[in-house]
Amino acid sequence: ENVQAYQTALTKVRAEQLGRHFPVIIDGQERQTEGKLVSTNPCDTSEVVGSTGKASIQDAEDALNGAWTAFESWKTWTMDARARVLLKAAAILKRRRLEACALMTLEVGKNYAEADVEVAEGIDFLEYYAREAMKYEGFGAAETTWFDGEENGLMYLPLGVGVSISPWNFPCAIFLGMLAAPIVVGNTMIVKPAEDSGMIAGLMIEILIEAGLPAGVVQFLPGVGEEVGEYLTTHARTRFITFTGSRNVGLHINEVAARHQKGQKFIKRVIMELGGKDALIIDETADPEVAVTAAVQGGFGFNGQKCSAMSRLIVVDSVYDDIVGQFVERVGRLKVGTGEENAAVTAVVNQESFDKVSSYLEIGGSEGKVLLGGEATGEQGGLTGHYVQPTIIGDLDAQSRMAQEEIFGPVVSVLRARDWAHALEIANSTEYGLTGGVCSRDRARLEQARREFEVGNLYFNRKITGAIVGVQPFGGYNMSGTDSKAGGPEYLGNFMQLKAVTERW
Ligand code: NAD
Repeated sequence: ENVQAYQTALTKVRAEQLGRHFPVIIDGQERQTEGKLVSTNPCDTSEVVGSTGKASIQDAEDALNGAWTAFESWKTWTMDARARVLLKAAAILKRRRLEACALMTLEVGKNYAEADVEVAEGIDFLEYYAREAMKYEGFGAAETTWFDGEENGLMYLPLGVGVSISPWNFPCAIFLGMLAAPIVVGNTMIVKPAEDSGMIAGLMIEILIEAGLPAGVVQFLPGVGEEVGEYLTTHARTRFITFTGSRNVGLHINEVAARHQKGQKFIKRVIMELGGKDALIIDETADPEVAVTAAVQGGFGFNGQKCSAMSRLIVVDSVYDDIVGQFVERVGRLKVGTGEENAAVTAVVNQESFDKVSSYLEIGGSEGKVLLGGEATGEQGGLTGHYVQPTIIGDLDAQSRMAQEEIFGPVVSVLRARDWAHALEIANSTEYGLTGGVCSRDRARLEQARREFEVGNLYFNRKITGAIVGVQPFGGYNMSGTDSKAGGPEYLGNFMQLKAVTERW
């Protein structure tokens, strides 16, 4: 029934929104820009989906000024009033859920199942941060303590103007989460979505405006990362940066953001959620059905284009042939096609990604053994698109490039471990530490993994990766980020400063 409704939504979005333009919005006003960023359908590159404006440096400057002005009034709103805007936006997104899914399919190639889960996560972020913010309402009310005749109150205050730089792979949920949390506690934001997903971002902004978000609280600045993104992150008046994206861009921002702070009033706060090289360990005690399903879904959900994607499968030697054999067989049966036909594997997002993944197919061929796929076909079912065959490379060394570098495509690297201890050692042998999985029925091993597996999100005998808002706060260790734990109770703290007020009367 839902799939049917989604198909109807797709037809409607095609009829009514194809070619739609989402402009830059500053202080509530749409701006004409010189250039624009065009979105094409990754599964059928002959289809132009629409476009966004392309913000200039002047736009960034104006957006910053406007956001500081808007901050003066937005910070005086009660938590309750701000939270209501998010709740209203969540209600509107629920109503427009299928439309958002359909646009996501067309713009980034997500199939219905993945798109729907993502929109649900976006709704959850809005509702969760609205609820969490209420805990900080008022001056010290719940936090006041008495000590030696003194009254101690805690005040949670917003920081000021923040810049959000977001990725294309969760264009609804992450984009929304990264702006909802800072604004609900009183900050104002400039949001720069990824070049490949500006339309979905534009749709979310449209929903926030419909929900009553005042002008200037969120400035919508689609544009080029190296241009307007860099300008915003290095700007002396940017109070904080929240970034989700690749390791290299994250490290670059981390470095340059600090350069322009002399003579300024504040030290920029930088919050980073970066890449992963997530491992799943399968040992000889694992339930093969659970383990192989976890590998298939973790490895190939949204074509492996998730920071939480399983990209290293580590199998203990005694069951390697059996588990890897089943894995190859199951992945070989995955349907490759378009998002709208709900194919399990669709096309990767853009030409750059296609070229990058293609280069890893070659590296994989030389470093290991191609067990499945291995070809970037660039076409499927008569359509030209960024299609890459689901690929499995076996017998890789733990230090090989295939086992160390994030590929971000439908490619899984398989490694053979001598035994459990070796498997855990391999799992911890990359610079990343985002998600990790273990399929085992040995309690002592699971206990050891609980203590020693260096990741921010750990899954035992779980068929899927990802995280449920409010239940599994999400964020990585080491090079995977600053462990900000989106969707968790500490997350709002990233966007506030605490004043402890001690009063003696
Ligand atoms: P990316 O790093 O290429 O781009 C992310 C954003 O940075 C984009 O908006 C881009 O325009 C902008 N940007 C690029 N150069 C910039 C610069 N010099 N200054 C300022 N901004 C700049 O990442 P992507 O391809 O959009 O997303 C995929 C990556 O994101 C993967 O590495 C994935 O693992 C990671 N990711 C991490 C998480 C997490 O929670 N840890 C979640 C989703 C995605």
